[in-house]
Amino acid sequence: MDFQYSEKVQDLLDKLNAFMDEHIYPNEHKMHQALRDEPWSTPELMEQLKQKAKDQGLWNLFLPKVYGDFSPGLTNLEYAPLAEVMGKVIWAPEVFNCGAPDTGNMEVLAKYGSDKQQQDWLQPLMAGRIRSAFAMTEPAVASSDATNIETEIKADGDDYVINGHKFYISGAMRKQCEIMIVMGKTDATNENRYLQQSMILVPMNTPGVKVIRPMQVMGYDDAPEGHAEIIFDNVRVPKENIIAGEGRGFEIAQGRLGPGRIHHCMRSVGAAQRALELMCQRVNQRVAFGRELIKQQSIREDIAKSVCEIEQARLLTLKAAQKMDEEGNKAAKDLIAMIKIIAPNMALTVIDRAMQCHGAVGLSQDTPLAHMWAGQRSLRFADGPDQVHMMQLGRDYAKKFANNQ
Ligand SMILES: Cc1cc2nc3c(=O)[nH]c(=O)nc-3n(C[C@H](O)[C@H](O)[C@H](O)COP(=O)(O)OP(=O)(O)OC[C@H]3O[C@@H](n4cnc5c(N)ncnc54)[C@H](O)[C@@H]3O)c2cc1C
Repeated sequence: MDFQYSEKVQDLLDKLNAFMDEHIYPNEHKMHQALRDEPWSTPELMEQLKQKAKDQGLWNLFLPKVYGDFSPGLTNLEYAPLAEVMGKVIWAPEVFNCGAPDTGNMEVLAKYGSDKQQQDWLQPLMAGRIRSAFAMTEPAVASSDATNIETEIKADGDDYVINGHKFYISGAMRKQCEIMIVMGKTDATNENRYLQQSMILVPMNTPGVKVIRPMQVMGYDDAPEGHAEIIFDNVRVPKENIIAGEGRGFEIAQGRLGPGRIHHCMRSVGAAQRALELMCQRVNQRVAFGRELIKQQSIREDIAKSVCEIEQARLLTLKAAQKMDEEGNKAAKDLIAMIKIIAPNMALTVIDRAMQCHGAVGLSQDTPLAHMWAGQRSLRFADGPDQVHMMQLGRDYAKKFANNQ
């Protein structure tokens, strides 16, 4: 394993760190204020920063393929340290057009989209002109098992008609969100339950798409993208909107979630690293019982444990990324599961220590820690709950030794 940065990555990393120092950290409070004033609009500040990032070539870094002028074509391994840096501030990935769920949706369209679908939706997404959402989860069924999804996609002449109820659809609250990839069933009685699902493109302004309310995450609205509850009431779209043909939904979902999961983990490492850095700043300054907190053994232990745990997760992330690059997503699935279990839990532990060292302000709006904690907590469900990854990892690992005496 060689995790040495290439010259290209080091150059991007230097530029990205400089951008974070100059434009992201100093604007954290300003951005939160703008989002409080108008939660579902993209703040003007965001648009200005996006243009700056684009001008510097810090754009679409996630896509492991050169796509026109829009992407430098980095491998997953090359992207990992960059995603980590972006993960230090919750809203930063969007500045570089590297935010979920757009990244996963762009990958789906790049890999499975028709020429027309790519022209209509991938191009504007790559340019950062519009935003998107991915609608799978349903309140009525256990959606960690995608075969449970009940939304109906029914052929009717030249169209499909969609009926269903989804929630926690990230990105769908914002005004700039123009397109949704919706997962539903075109063939609910197919004997093979992995061929029942399809994915279909639904423009947000299609009649019958009813956004009911923003769902919260432990009290946070996660503006500007938000997490929408949506009813699909006889939503009619042309047949050409199906992605890659009927029955491919489960396969596409698997393909979409591989890179998406590891991107989340890279950002989790960044969130933990930021929390650790804030913790170190705080304990060097804060004085209790006559000396700086850093002089207490238990504080040093908290820092030491955090350094160790972050580095462990970082290395596992890089190993998984390298395996994906060299042998494909399928070959890397055990490593992806491992890091998806490890990284958000590690980040939660480190952020919790940082909050404790900060005292009351660690839970307040004056540090990013509480919001970061809520974000990492939701990652223990999003893109597959911990238990589902453990179920599959445990099953597959034990199988290797099933015939040993
Ligand atoms: C902030 C946030 C953003 C999200 N964004 C999106 C989005 O953009 N699009 C989208 O479609 N969805 C999104 N989701 C939903 C997320 O993907 C689902 O919550 C997740 O897939 C789990 O589905 P569920 O909530 O129906 O839980 P369920 O499937 O009901 O599972 C509940 C719990 O049951 C347990 N469990 C399940 N299976 C097993 C097992 N085999 N063994 C042991 N225990 C088990 C786990 O503890 C699990 O957490 C988001 C969720 C959050 C919190």
